[in-house]
Formats: sequence, C-alpha cells, structure tokens
Amino acid sequence: MISIKQIPVLNDNYIWLINSSEKYTAVVDPAVPEPVISELKKNKWKLTHILNTHHHSDHTGANLELKRITNCKIIGPMADYERIPGIDIFLRDEDEFEFGTEIVKVIDVPGHTKGHIAFYFPNSGSLFCGDTLFALGCGRVFEGTMEQMWNSLIKLSLLPKQTRVYCAHEYTLSNGNFALTIEPNNKKLKFRMKNIIEKRNKGISTIPSTIEEEIDTNPFLRPDSLEIQRNLSLVGSPLLDIFTKTRQLKDSFRG
Ligand code: ZN
Ligand code: FE
Repeated sequence: MISIKQIPVLNDNYIWLINSSEKYTAVVDPAVPEPVISELKKNKWKLTHILNTHHHSDHTGANLELKRITNCKIIGPMADYERIPGIDIFLRDEDEFEFGTEIVKVIDVPGHTKGHIAFYFPNSGSLFCGDTLFALGCGRVFEGTMEQMWNSLIKLSLLPKQTRVYCAHEYTLSNGNFALTIEPNNKKLKFRMKNIIEKRNKGISTIPSTIEEEIDTNPFLRPDSLEIQRNLSLVGSPLLDIFTKTRQLKDSFRG
C-alpha cells in the first residue's frame, strides 16, 4: 500500500509525495523545496527518493536542495541524465525498481522532452506521468516528434482502465474547453466538464483522473472519433495525422 499526497505549487504545478511501508517516501517532480519539506514534517516522513519525469525546472527545481537536506536518491530518465540536477540513477523503458512494498515500472514516454519517463505503480494502480498525459490533454511537443508523443500516449492508454493518472499540472479546465471545440457532442466529455467546472469554482483539484476517463474524453487519445475527424476535415486519415492536427490546434488555442 502507498499513500499519496498532493502539493499544489507555483501557478498550476502538482508535486506528489508517495509513502510506502513507513520507511520509504518519494517525491515526484519537486519544483520548489519548502512545501515538500513542510509536508514531510507534517506526516513525519523521511524523504528517500526524488522521481523526476523530465528535466524542466518546474519539475526538478528542488532536486539539489532536497538532496542536500535528506541525502535522498534522485532517479530520472537515462535519455536526459545530463540535464537532471543531481541525478544518481538513470532508468530506461521497462526498468523496474523496488519502493517499499511496491514495484515501480518505468515507461519511456518521449515527446514533450527528449527524455521523459512515467512511473507506474501496478500494485496500487497509480501512474505518475509528468507532462505527457494530462487530464483532457497532453504535453506540448517541445523536443521530440509528434510520432514519439503519439506512441507515448498509446502506451499509457494501454494501462488498466482503472489506473489513476497523476499528472503534473492543473490544466484540466482549459484542456476541456479545447476538447469541446472539436468534439462538442461527446456526452461523457460534456458530463465530465460540468463536474470539472464545479470543482474548479470551489478551488478543488481535478487530479487524479483515470485512464478510462481519458480514453472516453481526452481528444488526444481519440483520433479515431468520427466527430473529431469530421471537425478536423480528416475523415479516414492516419491516426497520427489526426493527433498531430489536434496538437497543433491546441497549441494556438486560447481559452
Ligand atoms: Zn515540462
Ligand atoms: Fe511542467
């Protein structure tokens, strides 16, 4: 069993704290140190691991400070080891490591950056995917190719449907507003958005979601939707082309 705490920081980042079997505590993508340190104190947890999904500073900014204070080990993507501050252990696709009572599986998900990994905890059905899959969205393709990002999203969509998706940003509302522009008649999407609007009006987080919800409503996992294909004038086109067009439209979407 693991227990997971959410730490909202900066404008819209989430840092995740994961505790297993009392002795092991990991932090995923620590942008800033102070809120992590106080949450550790509050729970009387000792930090043993930093898990970095990718090198961006809003995911690694607290690496060195937390390592200095706690002497924890820093784990990150092999493909970007030079850009992860203080990295100790670099992992690649399908690597596994023990974390307390859990096994953690590494899933390589490049696209947003050259090196980007997701951490999957199969026993508890939890996925920490950084800036790859967002609730109702996906990360921008900065360093990789559209094809890489599309393949990364396919991998994540094949995880068990009840897997909880812990992404690194609260972008859900604007992602959903975009989704509605290309799939306005998706009933599950409309229902989900009603719920999201209510939550955000009360300042409540929309994360985690589940793989099932994303498959049903996230336009980046739905290039096979006829409604999306029609609205993009790409009926019957290769799914990669439809994904690419969707990503490009979202890049210029303001809302
Ligand atoms: Zn990023
Ligand atoms: Fe980010």
